Parts: sequence; structure tokens; C-alpha cells
Amino acid sequence: MAEIERITGHTHLVGLIANPIRHSKSPAMHNASFAQQGVDAAYLVFETEPEDLPYVVEAFKRTGVDGYNVSMPNKMAIGQYLDELTDAARLMGAVNCVVNKDGKSVGHNTDGAGFMRNLKECGFECKGKKMVLMGAGGAGSAIFVQAALDGMAQIDIFNPKDSFFDGAVERAAKVSEETGCKIIVHDLADREALKKACDEADVLVNASKVGMKPMDDQSLIPAEFIKPGVFVADTVYNPQETLLIKTAKEKGNPVAPGIGMMLWQGAIGEKLWYDIDMDIDYIRGIVTE
Ligand code: NAD
Repeated sequence: MAEIERITGHTHLVGLIANPIRHSKSPAMHNASFAQQGVDAAYLVFETEPEDLPYVVEAFKRTGVDGYNVSMPNKMAIGQYLDELTDAARLMGAVNCVVNKDGKSVGHNTDGAGFMRNLKECGFECKGKKMVLMGAGGAGSAIFVQAALDGMAQIDIFNPKDSFFDGAVERAAKVSEETGCKIIVHDLADREALKKACDEADVLVNASKVGMKPMDDQSLIPAEFIKPGVFVADTVYNPQETLLIKTAKEKGNPVAPGIGMMLWQGAIGEKLWYDIDMDIDYIRGIVTE
């Protein structure tokens, strides 16, 4: 009830456009953060399909909505309707955060930045290092582009030969050329290449759906490929401790679980919309309770 009383004719609006959307933790995260920080804004969700995008983008811009997150199935489709894209969003071919300012809608991608910030907060410095990345869908692409922009020396991507594969090969070549990072896309079925890349890597990352419910009893990286000392990171946060993270912790390896990426991408969004610093520890308590 207190939340509803807080909303007046002056309250600002941000939100999320996606479908399905009702399960999202973003409203709880951002509304708790705005209340804690004394920002007079509300975060709501809007069921939106790709064919709705031109209308939603225009309506949000014309009515003074400050910005919004974009999730599946709209991340790759929305760019064409926006006025500008950041370099990272352009290279990733995906937008997950829009800022409306000065009559323009600008598309950002905070997934890659959120992932890299979480890695850093967990103690991993990426400059000149080697990454193994499982998955080159939306999250995986955001991560390899941001890692390359941030100075990672080499990224070995493993993906099944599914609908994501050819696009990943094309994007990897472009990003390699623009950043100087060596990026190789391998077939996930090539176990020898995976073993060799894991032996040489500084950080192993899962950005595939494997590990997420109902595949939560699986990991694409076998326990014996996790060498001592290598960093292990996941994008999956449902369950909060994936089999990959649990295995790495049991072996004594440093880890960066997916919930941290979720929190940091949210924090970067709030910084872009309202120039505030989300209290990560407080909000972690809210979204994990
Ligand atoms: P996507 O549909 O764009 O990509 C799915 C990826 O998983 C592809 O690379 C695909 O090849 C791979 N994959 C699917 N089934 C597989 C299987 N059986 N074996 C091997 N690979 C398989 O999805 P996405 O948006 O990239 O999401 C991927 C994961 O990242 C999800 O678990 C999602 O929850 C997580 N994610 C987390 C955050 C966060 O903030 N922590 C943000 C975005 C996505």
C-alpha cells in the first residue's frame, strides 16, 4: 500500500518491455532501489512483442517515459526504431536498455557491462587474459563484445551448431577486426578444442541456457576441465547456485555467480536513467529473499 501512496502526478516512469514478463525480478529490484534512494520513479512491465515496437518506442518517447529495459523477444529487433545506439549495442546487435533524453531514444546494452563489472567485483581483471565462453546467444554475444572492448586478449566461444552459430561466427570476425581481440567460435561437439581452451584459459564462463531450470542438473564444462585457480563465472541465476558454480566452489576455484550480473546490469541502468548508485548489497537481499 505504501508503494501506491508514493505514486503521484509527478512520479517518473521506467519499465521493461518483453514477453513473457510476469516472472521478472526487475520491478522488485528497481522499485526497492528507487524507494531507498528517494527517487520519485516507478518501474513497471509492459507485455510487448516485436510488432508492437515502433508504437511503444514512439509512445514512450512522446509521453516522457525516462527509459526502459528490453528483453526477449525484443532485444535484437528494437535497434532499428531507436535514434542512436552505443558502440557496444551496435557491435552486439542487441539493446537491453533505452534512455529517453532530449527527444531521442538511445539504445545501450548493459548485459555485457553488468557481467564484466560483476567479474571485476569478484576479483578478476580482464586485460590481456583468455576467456572460454559457453554460448553465443543474446547474453553470450553481449559478453564477448564487452570483454573484447575491455581488453580481453583471446576468447574461445563454444556453441552447438544451432541457429546461433553462423551469426556468432560473423559477429566474432567483425568484433575481432574492430577490437584486436582474438575470437574463435568452435563447435561445442569438439571436446579436444574445449579441453585445450580450458587448459589455457584464465576464466571459464557459461552464457548458455544449460544450468538453468529445467537443465539445472547439467553443466557444459566438465569438472575435470576446471583447472586449479581458474575463475569460473555463470550468467544463469535460476538456480542461484548452478551446478557449474557449485562444482567450481567445491574445487576451491574463485567464482562469479549470475545473480551479480543481474544486479550490476540493473545498477548500470539506474545510473543511466537517474545518475544514482544502486546499493547492490541491499538490493541483493531483496531479490534473493
Ligand atoms: P538465447 O536464447 O539468446 O541463447 C541461448 C544460448 O544457449 C545459445 O548460445 C544456445 O546455443 C545455447 N543453448 C541452448 N540450449 C542448449 C543446449 N541444450 N546445449 C548447449 N547449448 C545450448 O538466451 P540468452 O538471453 O543468451 O540467455 C542465456 C542464459 O543467460 C540464460 O540462462 C539467461 O537466464 C542468462 N542471462 C542472465 C542474465 C543476467 O543478468 N544474469 C542476463 C541475460 C541472460
